[in-house]
Amino acid sequence: MTLDFEIQEHGNETVVQFRGEIDIHVGETLKELERKLKTSRLRFDCGGIARINSIGITIWLKALETLKNHVYSFSECNEQFLDVAVMIPLFPGTGWIESIKIQYSCDGCQHVEKRLHETGNGQVPKIDTTARCPKCTEALETDCDLADNLETLNDRGSFTARA
Ligand SMILES: [Zn+2]
Repeated sequence: MTLDFEIQEHGNETVVQFRGEIDIHVGETLKELERKLKTSRLRFDCGGIARINSIGITIWLKALETLKNHVYSFSECNEQFLDVAVMIPLFPGTGWIESIKIQYSCDGCQHVEKRLHETGNGQVPKIDTTARCPKCTEALETDCDLADNLETLNDRGSFTARA
């Protein structure tokens, strides 16, 4: 699978929506993106990323270092994104995470739902630990590493806006 992107300009912010896999080839996609950028404020909407690995995220961050005077953030980061991000000490570079989109699942009836949590400035996103399944009322579970990953990323200032 390859990586595609779509860009939308909202005033002076460009929202970049990635679709596909972030791997060793991400550098080429970012070069193509750079040629199309008209604003210095970038938000990467990560909700469409199907897979991401540590090489991909490292190349991504290195490429962002070369985009001088650009301010960037990440939104709709999922569990896999956060799992990889904690392994890369360089993450989030000079950027920050604006929101996470995570899965709540029910062991009882297999119901799953995704919820978006805004991070708030300098705050760990609040996971709903008392969420109940709307179908069978059992407790909904989130990824077992999520709380630890969020704490680790918060210690690096990942939820603090840099702009
Ligand atoms: Zn259920």
